[in-house]
Amino acid sequence: MRSPDGYRHHFVDRREYFLPPGKVVCVGRNYAAHIRELNNETPAEPVLFIKPATALVALELPLSLRFQPCHFETELAVLIGKSLSRCTPEQAQLAIAGLGVGLDLTLRELQDDLKSRGLPWEKAKAFDGSCALSHFVPYSGQDLQDIDVRLTRNGSVVQSGNSAQMLFPVLDLLCYISTFFTLLPGDVVLTGTPEGVGVLEEGDSLKAELDGLVSAETRVAYL
Ligand code: ZN
Repeated sequence: MRSPDGYRHHFVDRREYFLPPGKVVCVGRNYAAHIRELNNETPAEPVLFIKPATALVALELPLSLRFQPCHFETELAVLIGKSLSRCTPEQAQLAIAGLGVGLDLTLRELQDDLKSRGLPWEKAKAFDGSCALSHFVPYSGQDLQDIDVRLTRNGSVVQSGNSAQMLFPVLDLLCYISTFFTLLPGDVVLTGTPEGVGVLEEGDSLKAELDGLVSAETRVAYL
């Protein structure tokens, strides 16, 4: 299934990934400083939620947002290249097709309201266009726990973290996720955001990057 704007995964050399995009499994509360900034409790197990393929848009295109106010979370994105179900860390590593940077776009006020009433978050997290992804760098054994994730907004760095700060490392996350949800080629895992999340304003220029691997720039427009 194609997402509404015809999104497809691409590699940095502009090659299109051979399969259509699938689901996005997202990890919440994976960096201690971000947990503190939202006054959340540190989880004993990963907090998971899913965005459908219809949430996907290309981070290189203008970010057209239908819902206001929309908050940004900048995250290391892992493109899955092989099916994973109840996998080992070794199998998980062999299944990574690429690394990219993604924005987990969030309607924070709606999410807080839904959370406070004990209701599911999907409307706040999984709406159309809620996951903007960069092109992917083919995975060739890079150290997954030493990747700088950064977001620059209007020339100022607003988010800067390193995957070494994750509570649950990437391969452990893939194994944990695959005990509940089979990961298929074309699926993506968003691995959680470092601190510094905030609201997007009309006209913001954004540059999201994995240091030394990939970067993508966009501009925010509320529809
Ligand atoms: Zn997130």
